[in-house]
Parts: sequence; structure tokens; C-alpha cells
Amino acid sequence: MNVATSRTLPSKLPWVGTTIFTVMSKLATDTGAINLSQGFPGFDCSPELVALVEKYLKTGFNQYAPMTGVPALREALAQKTEQLYGVSYHPETEVTVTSGATEALFAAITAVIRPGDEAIVFEPAYDSYVPAIELNGGIPVFVTLTPPTYGIDWDDVRGKITDKTRLIIVNTPHNPTGRVWTADDLEQLAALVQHRDIWIVSDEVYEHIRFDGRPHRSLVTHPVLQERTFVCGSFGKTFHVTGWKIGYCLAPKELSVEFRKIHQYLTFSTVTPIQYALADYLKNPEHYKTLPDFYERKRDLFLDSLRGSRFQFQPTEGSFFQTVSYQAITDEPDYDLAIRLTKEIGVASIPVSVFYRQKNDYNILRFCFAKDDDVLREAGERLCRL
Ligand code: PMP
Ligand code: GLN
Repeated sequence: MNVATSRTLPSKLPWVGTTIFTVMSKLATDTGAINLSQGFPGFDCSPELVALVEKYLKTGFNQYAPMTGVPALREALAQKTEQLYGVSYHPETEVTVTSGATEALFAAITAVIRPGDEAIVFEPAYDSYVPAIELNGGIPVFVTLTPPTYGIDWDDVRGKITDKTRLIIVNTPHNPTGRVWTADDLEQLAALVQHRDIWIVSDEVYEHIRFDGRPHRSLVTHPVLQERTFVCGSFGKTFHVTGWKIGYCLAPKELSVEFRKIHQYLTFSTVTPIQYALADYLKNPEHYKTLPDFYERKRDLFLDSLRGSRFQFQPTEGSFFQTVSYQAITDEPDYDLAIRLTKEIGVASIPVSVFYRQKNDYNILRFCFAKDDDVLREAGERLCRL
């Protein structure tokens, strides 16, 4: 008898199923729909970057990288941070390369959260934060943001802080709403955490994708926040290479020490030739400084193509996501509508209710506009038929 199969393994994440990104992308593939659901570019990265990877692959850079990341990449990241935000991180002790921002987020949350600790999470929230908190025995405490502005009610945040609060998770520019933090948001957060043992994980993977002249308010720019923050970044969004899964964490030395203890047993190190290639590619700041204009054009093109529809929207402030309200069209649940739109008119999206713990449904869908122009135009045309 096989004893192992006769037992049921109690789930550590009983409420978790297959992610919506997998579900909707599969449905789009199965039905041949235009896939504006899962967030990934529909176009390729720069051939120059591919050539650099090829160069390092062919010249023997194929063994383990150092646990913290190849020095050239850590130095390039430290330099970029200094140039953009005027803040220095020591490449030896304060910059760590990870296997995607997902790993950085998991390691940072694990470094902070112990059983019974509370973590403040703004929802709608990217899907990887809460499982990481719960796997560490932590308790997510939600601050709910609502359309159309998704602004933060700081009195609400203050009211949710207790003696057990150890972590606040920030995400700017925000997935799924595109909201970008303001200078006032940074001040409000700083005032809240200043005299408390609260750490911050700041997910800034869309740092280079924000629009209409808005600056990215990195948490590194506020000294009170910087000293207690793990900043998590990703090259996937910035260089159109979501499949490479390379990210990083910037954190003051004492925080990085704890972060690295976890990183070294999660993955130990990250794919070597790509790290060297990225280090070279980062030397030209044009590669990321052109990104706001590049995506602003796509956002505007997509929105222009929706003008004849009955969807309502505010142009997104950042990220490559646009949320739209369909309140004037139907009162169907957002999940059902997302499935129906994929099957019937051939455009896949993400229902925003999935980013809320209680599945709050404000009749909003999220579309990814990181696609070729003709794909966006065709999607808009189809959506206007609704
Ligand atoms: N955070 C946010 C807000 C994201 O949208 C994503 C990815 N899509 C990630 C983290 C994960 O980044 P990576 O693919 O580098 O793990
Ligand atoms: N970040 C991407 C999104 O929000 C998806 C990443 C994933 O599939 N896990 O669509």
C-alpha cells in the first residue's frame, strides 16, 4: 500500500488557487483572443540586449554567479540609483540581485514577518504579497482603496496600526490601478512609521513607467523611509524581458544582511550571463529614460481606440495597465464579464475584484497596453462593439 497517497496534505494556503494571470492567458490562447490580461509586452526586447547575453553565453559565463549578484550589475544598479534619486547604496553590502522581483518580495517579507505579526497591505494588491505574509505566520491587515482615484485615506491607515504592526507594503506605480504615489503620500507614511518598529517593502517594478510628467516617488528619496525600506525592482518591466526573471533588492546594510540570509537559501544566485549583459546595457540611461514616452504613446493610443465605447476611464498614471469601468454597460460581475469578453468579442482582461481579499467588485477591468499598436487598435475596435 502506498501510505503517502492515502493521506491528505493540509494546505498552507487554502484560499489560493491558480492565479488569474494563468487562467486568463490560457483562456486567451484557447479561444484565440487578443490577450490584454497578464502583464507582459507583446513585442521583443532590444536586439542589442540579446546580443550581449549571447556574447556572455558564448564566452564561458555559465557557472554560478556570486550569491549577491555579479559585482558589475550591483555597481550599475547602485550608480543608477545615485544618479536618479541622489541616494547611495553600497554595491557590496546593500544591493542584491534576485530571480525576479517576486523572489525579492518574498525574501524581504520573510526577513521581517514572524508568526502573529501584522502587515498592512493596500488592496487591490498584487497577488504575491499576501501568500508571502501568511506563509511566514503573519496576518495581513487590509486598507481598501476604491475607484476612481484609488487614493489612500491616511486616517484609515493610522487606525489600522497596532503594537503588532511590523510591515507596510507599498507599490508605486501600482498594479493593477496604475496610481503613482505623491510627495504627500511619502510624508504621511514617514510620519506614521517614524517612531515605530515598522519596516517597509516597496515594490517599484514599474519605476520607469509613469506618465504626464509625473516623477517616480521612490521610497529611497525620503530619509525616514529609506532607512527602513527594502526596495524591490525588476528588469522584466523595464527592458521588455519578463521571461528572464531578474530583479533586485536595495536595502540598508543591516536589512540586506537579513535579506541575503533568506535569498541564499531560496535560490542562492541568479542566471549569470544575463547579469553581465544587463550590467553593460544599464550603462546607457537612454534605455530606461525613454520608457515613459514609449508607454504614454501606447496608453493614449489604446484610450483613443476606446473613445467610441461606453467604458469610462481616467488615463492611468503609471504602469502598463489601464483600468476601465463598465458600469454604464452592464451590471455583470467583473469575473464573468472578463470571461465573456474573451470568448465573445475576443479580448482578454483581468477582473480587478481578484486583487481584493473579499473580491470587492466595483465593475472594473484591467487591460495591459504593452502591445503592438495594431493589436491595441484591433482590441479597441472590438471593445467598442460592446
Ligand atoms: N510586482 C508587481 C507589481 C508586478 O506587476 C510584478 C509582475 N508582473 C512583479 C512584482 C513580479 O516581477 P518579476 O516578474 O520580476 O518577478
Ligand atoms: N505581473 C503580471 C500581471 O500583473 C503577471 C505576473 C504573473 O503572471 N505572475 O499581470
